Amino acid sequence: MSNIIKQAATVIADSRVVIGYTGAGISTESGIPDFRTMGEFWEGFDPATFEVEIDSREAFEQNPEKVWRFFSQALGLMEQVEPNDGHKALARLGRLGRMAAIVTQNVDSLHQAAGSENVIEFHGNMRQLHCLKCEARYTWDEVKAGKIPPLCRCGYVLKPIVPLFGDHVNLEAASASEVLAANAQVMLVACTHGDIAPVNRMPMVAKEYGAVIVEVNRDKSLYTDRITDYFLQGEAGEVLPALVREVEEILASAAN
Ligand SMILES: [Zn+2]
Repeated sequence: MSNIIKQAATVIADSRVVIGYTGAGISTESGIPDFRTMGEFWEGFDPATFEVEIDSREAFEQNPEKVWRFFSQALGLMEQVEPNDGHKALARLGRLGRMAAIVTQNVDSLHQAAGSENVIEFHGNMRQLHCLKCEARYTWDEVKAGKIPPLCRCGYVLKPIVPLFGDHVNLEAASASEVLAANAQVMLVACTHGDIAPVNRMPMVAKEYGAVIVEVNRDKSLYTDRITDYFLQGEAGEVLPALVREVEEILASAAN
């Protein structure tokens, strides 16, 4: 393992454009369960019907109060959690000039809280809300003291700017991600198994354009045997700091 970490670190140290690509797994170590696979965590919600009754555009339009009971639990949790060693390692890589941008599926702002810059939130951000009628925007901080579900000045219910099943993806984030993937020399995939489309295409796009794929995952993913060049198996909170320490040593010895 330490050997393959060294090899991957060498590739990263030698690259100018390293793009991170992260999924829910990097935040589970901070205590945020994956919304889609760990629906049972959420109190009072049945995982079997979670997708239909909570995580869908139709559910939101029919019963925003019910969906907001979930949003407020999730938002409350997000206010308590801190970035973990995995997030911090990626931010450190940025300060070393080896993380040009991170494309994340997460909606929890933990990369930014850890100090990463240039984070593309493919699935939006829970703390940013918009009105489905007049498109006015609010932040969670502006409305959280009031009643739930929060209403727009126009009287219509607000929704976090995250796609529910049945929603379109954010085209701006999608095209920015695609450009980053196409320009990556290395794509560092962390904590995602590649099962959520269309964001899961990003490593494929990077690979097609010649990027080296470094993958950090606890288990094999859709990418591992198909496109991954270096598979660093383990927990992100351990593997990413080890990887970044190696990069740091390589850069320090090159500078001397
Ligand atoms: Zn409005």
